[in-house]
Amino acid sequence: MFENEDEQPSENEETQLAEDESRKQIETQFKEQIEAEHKFISEKIKDISNIIVILSGKGGVGKTTVAINLATTLALNGLRVGVLDADIHGPNAPKMLGIKSYLPSVTESGITPAIGPLDMKVMSMAFLLPNPDTPVIWRGPLKMGAIKQFITDVYWGELDYLIVDLPPGTGDEALTILQLIPNITGVVIVTTPQDVALLAVRKSINMVKEMHIPILGIVENMSGFICPECGHEVKIFGEGGAKKASEEMDIPFLGDIPIDANITQDSDSGLPFVVQHIKSKATEAFNTIVDNIRKQIEPHYKE
Ligand code: ADP
Repeated sequence: MFENEDEQPSENEETQLAEDESRKQIETQFKEQIEAEHKFISEKIKDISNIIVILSGKGGVGKTTVAINLATTLALNGLRVGVLDADIHGPNAPKMLGIKSYLPSVTESGITPAIGPLDMKVMSMAFLLPNPDTPVIWRGPLKMGAIKQFITDVYWGELDYLIVDLPPGTGDEALTILQLIPNITGVVIVTTPQDVALLAVRKSINMVKEMHIPILGIVENMSGFICPECGHEVKIFGEGGAKKASEEMDIPFLGDIPIDANITQDSDSGLPFVVQHIKSKATEAFNTIVDNIRKQIEPHYKE
């Protein structure tokens, strides 16, 4: 093979070749494992028409608030909706939906989810903790095992939409859960107008693009505060940043939600805001966002 000695691979090159080969083998094994897992999970969730994952570049931007109010708006549209709270360390979805405590039971059909307002089916890590102040201190594989069970072993039944609330950021947990769920219809990225949040949003977009998962678009939350006294709007966190980021990164802008004190109050008291404040600017924004999502997913929506 090698005509003269110069063409023989050096010891270093041989080590490099062996390393490349073993890396390739690991990559192939990993891919095969994910494909097998996806095949198994796909079969289990075949009655769920659409899976929408809500993620944010960083915590505290209103990801769960947006997830809950989007789910509720879809349910108000007469659709069958499920909420999978995969935010392992901040499982707030049940609280925002007024589900104070729930002990899942195992039946022949699977683990029974809680039934929230408008018949939404809800599953959350919060249901497995003895009380709301208990931190989740399980190690990675155990946490991922629980999330996997939430997808495969919960009896979701037939759903038009399953809304998945992911842990914040682009860390290990968010990434692993994204990898775990097959056939994601699309991802909705929530941000606020500040530079730091927008910086994080760019990272999230790149992560999702690299995973070849469709992005439905960006939602700008806390986009201005309307004074309840005089009606004047103050752009507390800046203006137009998410729209600009969406244009730069070539993904749809779904809408902007203003700061509304009632959102905080309703979330804390477990009443979905869009049901309590039908005639507000923020509810209008949630309706626009749902329209923009459904237009992309449902072929003949509002034609
Ligand atoms: P995340 O899931 O990103 O950590 P949350 O959804 O828990 O964020 O929201 C953080 C806090 O901000 C909550 O108290 C929530 O009620 C409040 N909040 C979120 N969006 C708005 C908004 N548009 N107007 C007023 N309060 C909001």
